[in-house]
Amino acid sequence: MEKKTTVNDIIRLLEEWAPKKFAYDWDPVGLQIGSPDAPAGKVLVTLDVTEDVIREAAEAGAGLIIAHHPPLFRPLKSVRTDTPQGRIVELCLRHGISVYAAHTNLDVAPGGVNDMLAQKLGLSGITIMEETYREPLFKLAVFTPHDSVEKVRKALGDAGAGSIGDYTHCSYELEGTGRFTPADGADPYIGSVGKEESVAETKIEVVLTGSIRARVEQAMIEAHPYEEPAYDFFVLDQRLEEFGIGRVGNLREPMTLESFARYVKERMGVQALRVVDGGNKEVRTVAVLGGSGAKYVGAAIGKKADVLVTGDIDFHTAQDAANLGLSIVDPGHHIERIMVGGVRERLENDAEKAGINCEFIESGIVTEPFRFM
Ligand SMILES: [Zn+2]
Repeated sequence: MEKKTTVNDIIRLLEEWAPKKFAYDWDPVGLQIGSPDAPAGKVLVTLDVTEDVIREAAEAGAGLIIAHHPPLFRPLKSVRTDTPQGRIVELCLRHGISVYAAHTNLDVAPGGVNDMLAQKLGLSGITIMEETYREPLFKLAVFTPHDSVEKVRKALGDAGAGSIGDYTHCSYELEGTGRFTPADGADPYIGSVGKEESVAETKIEVVLTGSIRARVEQAMIEAHPYEEPAYDFFVLDQRLEEFGIGRVGNLREPMTLESFARYVKERMGVQALRVVDGGNKEVRTVAVLGGSGAKYVGAAIGKKADVLVTGDIDFHTAQDAANLGLSIVDPGHHIERIMVGGVRERLENDAEKAGINCEFIESGIVTEPFRFM
């Protein structure tokens, strides 16, 4: 009998792409309602969880909703069903629907919301606007007799050490002499108790991220012939990959602010947008950040952006940006709905690769609260 896909199977797929460690500290990402052991059924992807969205999920036979905005944002002190949050909890539990929120972790994740927006705008040479997470990085140096070098090196690489960009199994080796004296009670691979030994050894060096340190250490110990292998972990003050919020990239051709604003309107499919003129003759370098980007004016200027595309810009931020020479195009917070199709497509592919049987559907409910007139 085929194994039923659980909520947890889908969470693991999603967190492989957008791990929770990418989220801001204040952000309650993760499984908010339901249970990891529950059957996933179909999975519905939505920007927001509203009562209409839950009814849509129930009618479609979905057991899991993946949302960008956490429906339980502030801690609940009660579950009163005469409040919007309480109603959502009640409806989900009644229909056996779990809810998982992938919020700032999905903004930061490579290929996540901000990359989707940058791609939609046709930007090239895309970089991170502001670094928000740095993966701890280590160098492992392990000393091994010559005849075991290949085995140890392979074990390190197979465990994920030495993965740099598009390369795997990267390592460096240096030959030298190791010395030791086996003490009473030792069971040495080379030499005998009480007698100083010298042995020609090879030092293998690999870099690895903090997330796989335990796995690499275990693999190295298992592959190493010595009872007590000699090895060192060094903390590295550098990074292999930058992770952060917002993206900056270039338009193929410079545009006037006005034509760029029309372009954004068309690409994002919005009825209206607000424009702040920073006085640039033309715009070429574009910063984009899904959601509320008022706090990122400085970051956009720091990256030499001509224009910032983001939502929820307030009056004073707009004035400041204009004075600092940064134009802003605010198509609204709701452009983040781009994640509905993006997440559905990505998880469909990832599930197929992982041999997980699950159907992903996109919510058709419009959760934009504003009407434009
Ligand atoms: Zn948002």
